[in-house]
Amino acid sequence: MIPKNRIFLSPPHMSGGELKYINEAFTTNWIAPLGPNVEAFENSLAHYCGIKHAVALSSGTAAIHLALILLGVEKGDEVIAPAFTFSATINPIVYLGATPVLIDSEPNTWNMDPDLLEKAIKRRRAQGAERKVKAIIVVHLYGMPANMDRIMEIADKNDIPVIEDAAEALGSRYNGKQVGTYGRLGVLSFNGNKIITTSGGGALISDDEELITKARFLATQARDKAPHYQHSQIGYNYRMSNILAGIGRGQMEVIDDRVKQRRKNFSFYKERLKNYQGIEFLDEPDNSFFSNRWLTTILIDNHKTGITHEKLQQLLEEDNIESRPLWKPMHLQPVFTSCPAYVNGTSEGFFSSGLCLPSGTSLTDEDRSRIINIIEKMLV
Ligand SMILES: *Cc1c(COP(=O)(O)O)cnc(C)c1O
Repeated sequence: MIPKNRIFLSPPHMSGGELKYINEAFTTNWIAPLGPNVEAFENSLAHYCGIKHAVALSSGTAAIHLALILLGVEKGDEVIAPAFTFSATINPIVYLGATPVLIDSEPNTWNMDPDLLEKAIKRRRAQGAERKVKAIIVVHLYGMPANMDRIMEIADKNDIPVIEDAAEALGSRYNGKQVGTYGRLGVLSFNGNKIITTSGGGALISDDEELITKARFLATQARDKAPHYQHSQIGYNYRMSNILAGIGRGQMEVIDDRVKQRRKNFSFYKERLKNYQGIEFLDEPDNSFFSNRWLTTILIDNHKTGITHEKLQQLLEEDNIESRPLWKPMHLQPVFTSCPAYVNGTSEGFFSSGLCLPSGTSLTDEDRSRIINIIEKMLV
């Protein structure tokens, strides 16, 4: 038997247009962590997101780290963040010696539960931590926007700035506006598995020019204006290379297509599986939510289907198809067990029954048939 091609969960998908910009970088010898591609990529990001400023960085994690520094997060502070996310959301809080305060999910968006957020702020303040809660990080997981109306209302009422981790959500909109543009700062990622990629990279976006200028300064080793190298602050080497930004420019030319293709994957799976009991999709709660459908995720009710997500993952793997369990919640991670956590069991339930299905934009009809046949065979 001829071994079947591997179907990956979310592989990079080049348009071909990237090469022109990379070649330009070579012919002009702009092989540096700045240059015309970086500037053009930043402009296209800001324009696409409908925001004033963007700074391209070495990763989404670096963007979160800088965002926290810009908001003055220091040792001993607390930062509120969702429990249901990838560890990259939380790690930078710990880099700064601050404490992550973890908040569980609401069932309809899978993102930060506004009621629990409100409760956590009250409890932290009752414990005398008032000056310590320095920021809230909201994540738009798998591309689904969080409930931004309520979260921003709670944050504003309590005077706590919001960072939006939109690493998985470029192209997702809430009330018609790109997510990442609601808080003081938004974070994007262009890691190899994201909806567009520069192989590795990230960006910080904001309407606040001062914050973005400061981010650029910190990301280039915090060099003071002086003829010699002078530093009055600790800096970082977090800027994006001009070559990688060339990939980003080419990718931004096809972002609309990529969103369409991801959403098409979701519709395909949903349509084919809608008549099976015990398979649940993450639907957009109402028309104020528009997800880029970065990954299509399903929850599998073990009792109704007679199978588990582990079993399905294994069967797909046997056919050389990659799938992945949902993110393991942060309060269940050995490294974060000591963090204060406000939990309701929701994200644990997702983790124990959920699977991410192959969601790449280069999936062919044939690939999709191969995947769905295995799932359907298992459900009868
Ligand atoms: C990918 C991702 C990040 C980190 O981005 P990198 O560019 O890989 O550093 C942060 N948060 C979430 C939710 C992510 O999925």
